[in-house]
Amino acid sequence: MADTYIAPRQQMVRDQLEARGIKDKNTLAAMGKVPRHLFVAQEDRQCAYGDYPLPIGSGQTISQPYIVALMTEALGLSGGENVLEIGTGGGYAAAVLAEIAKQVVTVERVADLADLARDNLRASGHQNVTVICGDGTLGWPEDAPYDGISVTAGGPSVPKALKDQLAVGGRLVMPVGRSSGSQDLIRLTRVSQEDFKEDNLGGVRFVPLIGAEGWTQAPVWF
Ligand code: SAH
Repeated sequence: MADTYIAPRQQMVRDQLEARGIKDKNTLAAMGKVPRHLFVAQEDRQCAYGDYPLPIGSGQTISQPYIVALMTEALGLSGGENVLEIGTGGGYAAAVLAEIAKQVVTVERVADLADLARDNLRASGHQNVTVICGDGTLGWPEDAPYDGISVTAGGPSVPKALKDQLAVGGRLVMPVGRSSGSQDLIRLTRVSQEDFKEDNLGGVRFVPLIGAEGWTQAPVWF
C-alpha cells in the first residue's frame, strides 16, 4: 500500500522534533518510519501528524509526537533491548519503541484499547510487540528485567514493581505528580541493585495511571 503520508511525517520530524532539540538518531529514524496515521481513527488521518494528542476512544489519547520522541530519546536505546511500556493506548509509542528495541511488552488496562492496539500493530507490521491487558502498575515480571521502561500515564509515584523489574543500567521514564498541572517527566537510571539516579525532564500532562500502585480511580481534576 502506497504511503501517502511520507511528506507530513518528514515535516513532523523536522518541525516538531528536530526543531525542539530531539537529537537521538534512533528516535528520529523510528518517528520518521512509523505510520502514525494507522494509529488514529479513520476520520482523524488527515491530522495524524499534527502537533497535538488525539482521542483514540475509551476517554484516552494518542500522545503528541514530541512527547513520544522525548520519552523514547530519554530511554537512550541503542538497539536490541528488551523494553516494557505501561499504557499501550492504540499502540503508537509501542511501535516507535519496537523500531529500536528487540522486543516490546506493553500493558493496557482497558480491554478495548488492548484489542485496538493489536489490530493497529498488525496493520503497521510490528511483530515484536506483545500487548497484554492488565494492571501495568504491577509491571510484567515474566519478561523482566527490562533495559527500558516507559510509563505513558501519570501516577503519584514510580510503582515499586516497575523499579524492581528494571535491569541494572536500565532506564525508566514516567510522568509523576499529584495533579494534572504538576506532573514532571521523571527518568530513573538503575545504577546498581539498590541505587537509582533521578533526572527531571520537565513538566508534562498525561492521563492518569489507574491501578494498584497508581491512582485508585480517576482523580477529581481529570
Ligand atoms: N502510549 C500511548 C498513550 C496512551 S494514553 C500512545 O502511544 O499514544 C495512556 C494509556 O494508559 C491509556 O490507554 C490508559 O487506559 C492506560 N492506563 C492507565 N492506567 C493503566 C494501568 N494501570 N495499566 C495499564 N494501562 C493503563
